[in-house]
Amino acid sequence: MTCDLCESAATVHLTEIRCGVKHERHLCDRHAEQVIGTRFPTAETRNRVRADYFRRVIAFIKEHNRVPTTEESLRLKLPMVSPSSQESIADTLRWMQRILDSIEANEPLHGEIEFKDE
Ligand SMILES: [Zn+2]
Repeated sequence: MTCDLCESAATVHLTEIRCGVKHERHLCDRHAEQVIGTRFPTAETRNRVRADYFRRVIAFIKEHNRVPTTEESLRLKLPMVSPSSQESIADTLRWMQRILDSIEANEPLHGEIEFKDE
């Protein structure tokens, strides 16, 4: 069986029920990643997304010398950062960099940050 979207062999087979109608999809690896990657992310995809969140929030903190507000986090799709009040920006950055490093090293997170799955 070939992919719905190209001539490659379909390796991912999905059944979706939308509005009570069954839709079957047959996708190759590449298109499965594109089509369903965000809905059914693999561990690797999730890690990439997480690492990207952290890179962006680290860039934000470096640029503004403060953590984003809740409103900014939502608007810019950044992770919520709520450092304890006595923690300096430099400490927060080090802490975030450590998390980013461990994400990139594919280590499990240690419950310091909660991710909301969509
Ligand atoms: Zn394909």
